[in-house]
Amino acid sequence: MTDVGRQAALEAIAAEVRVCTNCRLHETRTKAVPGEGDPETEVVFVGEGPGEHEDRQGRPFIGASGQFLTELIRSIGWQREDVFITNVVKCRPPGNRDPQPDEIAACSSFLRRQLEVLDPAVVVTAGKHSLASFRPGERISAVHGTTAPVDPATGARDAVAFAMYHPAFALYQASNRQTLIDDIRRLPAALIASRQRREPLEPLLEGPIEPELQPEPEPEMDATAPTSPTTDDATPQLTLF
Ligand code: URA
Repeated sequence: MTDVGRQAALEAIAAEVRVCTNCRLHETRTKAVPGEGDPETEVVFVGEGPGEHEDRQGRPFIGASGQFLTELIRSIGWQREDVFITNVVKCRPPGNRDPQPDEIAACSSFLRRQLEVLDPAVVVTAGKHSLASFRPGERISAVHGTTAPVDPATGARDAVAFAMYHPAFALYQASNRQTLIDDIRRLPAALIASRQRREPLEPLLEGPIEPELQPEPEPEMDATAPTSPTTDDATPQLTLF
């Protein structure tokens, strides 16, 4: 799908989310919060549900925990705009209570369709309800900072889920903050590993060398010839986005 096609498909889903009445959360919402970000991204952050600020503005993660999430993303040299950010439920649970199973189920087709369009290499689960959607049965305290393959039925057809505590966890205690900082440092490596799993590199030196591929004999050395660049100079820089 082209960049423009993805943008249009995401906007069509967002338009449906904004008028959705599939569960009771629509009765108390101010604005639904479909999600936002780069349609070409390889990384999708999935939180739990909008809070008060998000409900007022219709944008994900813009309150206190959102500011910390933005800081975390910057701490690894990325920008918030480089990723896509959404939630398991798109409308605010009253009083910021946990989303209930029937509300998560009623909203799940939106998240699934978003992931089908985005086809990310990594889904970052922020918080235990998001973790449960991608790595059912796992405990956040045991698996934070690790990845596991995602069931394609979630919509992410070839991705790993990277487990993180919810950013609000850091607002309670300074040591929790450091846990999140330490965990997100592992995210770039998780992305590289997932990319390689999706598109394995051609093996460079595998099997016997065919006769026609044998190297030509070295030409006579010319002492006046300029030296070739070092391997380091020739190594391309890895860009993540
Ligand atoms: N917490 C979430 O899980 N999502 C938001 O969008 C904001 C706060």
